[in-house]
Amino acid sequence: MAYLDHNATSPLRAEARVAVERALAIGGNASSVHAKGRAARALIEKARAQVATLAGAAPGDVVFTSGATEANATALWGAVQGAADAGARITRLFVSAIEHGSVLANATALTERFAGLRLELLPVTSDGVADLDALRSELREGKGRALVALMAANNETGAVQPVEEARELAVEAGGLLLVDAVQVAGKIAVPRADYVSLSAHKIGGPQGAGALILRKDVPFAPLYLGGEQEQGRRAGTENLAAIAGFGAAAEAVRPEVPASARLRDLFEARLKRTDPSSVIFGGKAERLPNTSNFALPGIAAETSLIALDLDGVMMSSGAACSSGKVKPSHVLAAMGISNDLARCALRASFGRDSTEADVDAAIGSITNLLARVRSRAAA
Ligand code: PMP
Repeated sequence: MAYLDHNATSPLRAEARVAVERALAIGGNASSVHAKGRAARALIEKARAQVATLAGAAPGDVVFTSGATEANATALWGAVQGAADAGARITRLFVSAIEHGSVLANATALTERFAGLRLELLPVTSDGVADLDALRSELREGKGRALVALMAANNETGAVQPVEEARELAVEAGGLLLVDAVQVAGKIAVPRADYVSLSAHKIGGPQGAGALILRKDVPFAPLYLGGEQEQGRRAGTENLAAIAGFGAAAEAVRPEVPASARLRDLFEARLKRTDPSSVIFGGKAERLPNTSNFALPGIAAETSLIALDLDGVMMSSGAACSSGKVKPSHVLAAMGISNDLARCALRASFGRDSTEADVDAAIGSITNLLARVRSRAAA
């Protein structure tokens, strides 16, 4: 089996599994004052410190959530509602066109809920890197407080985004910045921003835990109400086992050197030799070291995925979150890639357990697929 889908989920680390099992054995509610409750609380606070270290933040800035989808939703609704509550309304949302659905959908919903809030999508280059020229001129014009959402790196192409530049522009204009750092955690440094979202299962933690990192004193209002957990910032009994596993994964991921870069580059070099017509998306951009988004022109992604899967090679088409949908990726569309080519897009994402044998398996399977399709075309 060659698992090349780490951007969708990275299998549970041994350290995280141990932490999950220990937490499940405790069986207390972290809000209870008795011994079991205190033991549960201690695990959550340990995990909070571990995640804070990964994010370069203070433990008190970490709000645990059910994942990055909730963290993104909480950041957006929390910022807009919190700023309104404080009498310093946000009136403009600038969101890159390649954000995860959880950012795009919530940003759109916010404009329907808050009259006077405008949403503008930031364009990207043909290599999938956000172009901040329009943002710069819009922010310099003034016209109300802004919230900018720019992911640290894209989940489909791996293209690293100019987050530091966006931060400087936002700061200069008195605006706020949300960075979805899900895909960079454990691969490159997690950037600082007013709001940063993380997900446990992308770094070898369990699915169903994530965090929103809040810079001190940023506008905020909780999305979930009815409980004082997370200092009143996220109501509901904490997912103790998942949070403990998240913490253990965050600690384990830190010293890791991304060895997957060599494998990704080897894969792409061999892909080009196998099929000179293959296209690598975002290839000229600075990319996450583990991600390759490519197309075999003329072969629909669904066909390739099934063929690869039959050979034990697991990849995804476009974003895993949206696979199953026929619609081509919004990320590739924003890069100006035609629908015909985007429908052939596959993503291979390497991880800590990937080996050269996985590259051999993937290239072998693609070689056979190409031979079958081309012999059929010639017949
Ligand atoms: N943001 C990005 C960039 C992602 O890749 C994902 C997962 N596909 C998410 C957010 C959502 O994370 P979660 O699965 O924890 O809800």
